[in-house]
Amino acid sequence: MSGTLLETTIDYNRPGTQLGVLAVPQSTNSSGWRSEFIPIAVINGAPGPTALLFGGNHGDEYEGPVALTNLVRALDPAQLRGRVIVMPMLNRPAVEAGTRLSPIDGKNMNRAFPGRPDDSITGMIAHYVSSVLFPLADLVVDIHSGGRSAHFLPSVNMHRVPDDDQMRRMIAAAMAWGAPYVFIYRDVGGVGLLPGEAERLGKVTLGTEMGSASQFGAEIVTMTERGVWNVLRHAGILVDRTPDRPATTAQVVAADQYDDYIMAPVSGIFEPFFEMGAWIEAGQMIGQIHSVEQPFAPPVRVAARTSGMLMSRRAFPLTRQGDNLATLVRPFELGSS
Ligand SMILES: [Zn+2]
Repeated sequence: MSGTLLETTIDYNRPGTQLGVLAVPQSTNSSGWRSEFIPIAVINGAPGPTALLFGGNHGDEYEGPVALTNLVRALDPAQLRGRVIVMPMLNRPAVEAGTRLSPIDGKNMNRAFPGRPDDSITGMIAHYVSSVLFPLADLVVDIHSGGRSAHFLPSVNMHRVPDDDQMRRMIAAAMAWGAPYVFIYRDVGGVGLLPGEAERLGKVTLGTEMGSASQFGAEIVTMTERGVWNVLRHAGILVDRTPDRPATTAQVVAADQYDDYIMAPVSGIFEPFFEMGAWIEAGQMIGQIHSVEQPFAPPVRVAARTSGMLMSRRAFPLTRQGDNLATLVRPFELGSS
């Protein structure tokens, strides 16, 4: 029906917990009839809504794989009024290689949606998610972090979807996570995102940016894990107890203009002038870029074109022209945009 070539032993309707894989057909020089195994778990409780949880969409973002495999080991079907489907390493080849993109076909899973059944491996997996799993889902969670390239203030994020009711339900679910920020972003890095496709289908969809690779520690992993548990409780799927009350209410912020995303005008070594969370006025210099080829030439200073709070900053100093150096956000209220 979906035309997918992926095979699985998972029965999405069987009660209880099933641990398995999606087998993606591959043919390589050393193995003519190979399958790439992508892990999947299904935990079915009493009848109710379905949550789809993804980690490892980008391979160098490990908060999702850790939080979601911990979750699968801990979830008891008796605590569920609904179903939880977990793919903790959606782009498993990239997770194993420690790379953002797939080492097999060089593609970005989060630009491959909705995918095609006859695509290379990344698009085949995206197509399975779009055609088989999305139709089952009420709630979609896709856990990201800054990976190698960016520092982020920890946030649950989403696009500004056109349907205000869907937007309201998404913000409410995001607030239940308990992260300090709810971040509404634009697609400055291209289209074909997993959350974008789920949002388009009307699902309550949450992405995240949980810190960055160099900040991977107990605090951020706990925030990721506790957030997933809280969102499952908020959705009424996990009925063990009421959600944790967040210690502080999340600030809802948005980077709704292209100019909020500051790209490097030249290549070189980026020296930032501000710490994360600082408020920056339009026209202020956010940092400067030192030339490697002309080290004693004056560095190129980079100005903010809008005013806002520093939500993300490039993590690795060596920068190529066009790389995102910083993202500025302002408070967001539904109805004001
Ligand atoms: Zn990511």
